[in-house]
Amino acid sequence: MTAGPLVGVLAVQGDVREHVRALEACGATTRLVRRPAELDDLDGLVLPGGESTTMDRLLRAFDLRDPLREALAGGLAAYGSCAGMILLADRLLDGVVGQQTIGGLDVTVRRNAFGRQVDSFEGDLDVVGLDSPVHAVFIRAPWVEQHGPAVEVLARAHDHPVMVRQGRLLASAFHPELVGDHRIHRLFVDLARS
Ligand code: GLN
Repeated sequence: MTAGPLVGVLAVQGDVREHVRALEACGATTRLVRRPAELDDLDGLVLPGGESTTMDRLLRAFDLRDPLREALAGGLAAYGSCAGMILLADRLLDGVVGQQTIGGLDVTVRRNAFGRQVDSFEGDLDVVGLDSPVHAVFIRAPWVEQHGPAVEVLARAHDHPVMVRQGRLLASAFHPELVGDHRIHRLFVDLARS
């Protein structure tokens, strides 16, 4: 492949533009995804931060949820940030009544988990595979409460996993797209390319 991988950004709600900018800085070609056909031929997909309850409603209204499930089951690489991490979780705690996820990651995620302690905070986080800490911004973020054996924990905060990987799925509770440090997007672009 001479051009970078083609990475979609789920564009129903949330901080879509920031992810597009970070992905393109890492050499990916990007495509906004709002319809099932826009999933065709993607090497990877980013599920941005935003509001998971709104995204869930829109995904179902746009008939995107089942095609997304199928694409992930078929091996599409995906990276979910914050609300995107919630969407990728197989199990959800503290969702609103009727809230569904797309699933794929064998994790139980607690929504707005840090809200009980601090609503939003920033901090330097060690991430497995990166040689210096990442400045992580958490905004009403979830954390991983429980995970299966196939899930690798890449970073922790407040004693809980906040970045995980399982096969071609990557998720972080924080927002690397907001800080101008593209190392996490680069990890994902490499994953999508592989
Ligand atoms: N609390 C939000 C939710 O439940 C996630 C926040 C975020 O993406 N920054 O979807």
